Amino acid sequence: MALIVQKYGGTSVGDLERIANVARKVAATKDRGDDVVVVVSAMAGETDRLIGLAKKVSPLPNEREMDVLLSTGEQVTIALLAMTLESMGYKARSYCGWQIPLVTDPAYGAARITAIKKEAILEDVKNGHIIVVAGFQGVDDKGSITTLGRGGSDTSAVAVAAALNADLCEIFTDVDGVYTTDPNITSKACKIRKIAYEEMLEMASAGAKVLYIRAVEFAMRYRVPVVVRSSFSDNDGTLVTEESSDMEKESVRAVTCNTKEAKITISGVEDKPGIASRIFSSLADANIVVDMIIQNASADGKTDISFTLPESDLQKGLEICGKFKEQLEATQISGASDIAKVSIIGLGMRSHSGVAAKMFTALSKEGINIEMISTSEIKISCVINQKYAELAVRTLHDVFELEKSC
Ligand code: ADP
Ligand code: ASP
Ligand code: MG
Repeated sequence: MALIVQKYGGTSVGDLERIANVARKVAATKDRGDDVVVVVSAMAGETDRLIGLAKKVSPLPNEREMDVLLSTGEQVTIALLAMTLESMGYKARSYCGWQIPLVTDPAYGAARITAIKKEAILEDVKNGHIIVVAGFQGVDDKGSITTLGRGGSDTSAVAVAAALNADLCEIFTDVDGVYTTDPNITSKACKIRKIAYEEMLEMASAGAKVLYIRAVEFAMRYRVPVVVRSSFSDNDGTLVTEESSDMEKESVRAVTCNTKEAKITISGVEDKPGIASRIFSSLADANIVVDMIIQNASADGKTDISFTLPESDLQKGLEICGKFKEQLEATQISGASDIAKVSIIGLGMRSHSGVAAKMFTALSKEGINIEMISTSEIKISCVINQKYAELAVRTLHDVFELEKSC
């Protein structure tokens, strides 16, 4: 008998019929003799709807209250799924984050999990219950509700799997695995059977929203085997696991694209020690995760600094930088959200040369200008104009022949 954590995303629980479909899948696992802990998201579109309501009240709503609001989406789904399971004759019990408790730090909207108490859940499992946990939410040590960031139900699932020492964490979604690129962008995308934690981490950080980055971090740290598969078919999925020697064969495994980032440019700041420190410390204090940073070569003791950040933080980021405008003697602070970050990822980059050149040449042949570049050992990312995002993805997918790689 195994203990399995299954996570079902928003589309998978999008209406009552789909919740019944999830209940049947969960029940089938229980009938096989395994114990199941289910983690669910809010019904499709619900979190966006709630954000829309809050934005009508205030452009920058109170962050604590925002989390109280957003956590309601998942609370609806756990109750409906638990009721459905009960009506099918199974013992089911729902848990909000605070009831577990799944404890986080107090960073509203992007909280990090610090502890998960497993005793209550394990007691219920022992008594034959199917446990239904609300994804995306937790509670801080003062009792305030927190949320884990968009897509954070994945994190809840993997963290719960790690805490319970589960045998497997299955992420059920609307695609049947991790593909060489978003299958909604090109039909040439093909399913990757097995992918290393490290590659998946880079893909997630580069915008492949099929798995949330912090979920992959958890899986990697606690060695939780994760399978990504479809709620709507019984197809084999993608196993996210330890690196193995065959994985370095291809130089590039996947192309990703992130259109949810924005860019801030601070022009004409003094080129002297302490400037970057002041700006980026303030952004970090506001829990803004900065991604790429570029500082131009200085001219006449002045320089420009550009960086990317989540689009949802653009307003907050501009306000913070604005406070420094006079202190930094900056001539201008501007924000742009019409950018996209395209990335190529692969463990094989460690041993194949010329990958970056091939990427830049392919983009230039399509007339796509590269505004920023960043690299890691197994990833190269370029910021481009958002209108070329899909063209860039298709071009890179073709150039690196990913269609033939699966
Ligand atoms: P859920 O609501 O189940 O959490 P998400 O919408 O967060 O689902 O993630 C699934 C989506 O991720 C897919 O519909 C697909 O468009 C997108 N996606 C992006 N990159 C990839 C990829 N490389 N492989 C599979 N899906 C991807
Ligand atoms: N409901 C949350 C969101 O839409 C969390 C999740 O679905 O993973 O981002
Ligand atoms: Mg998701």
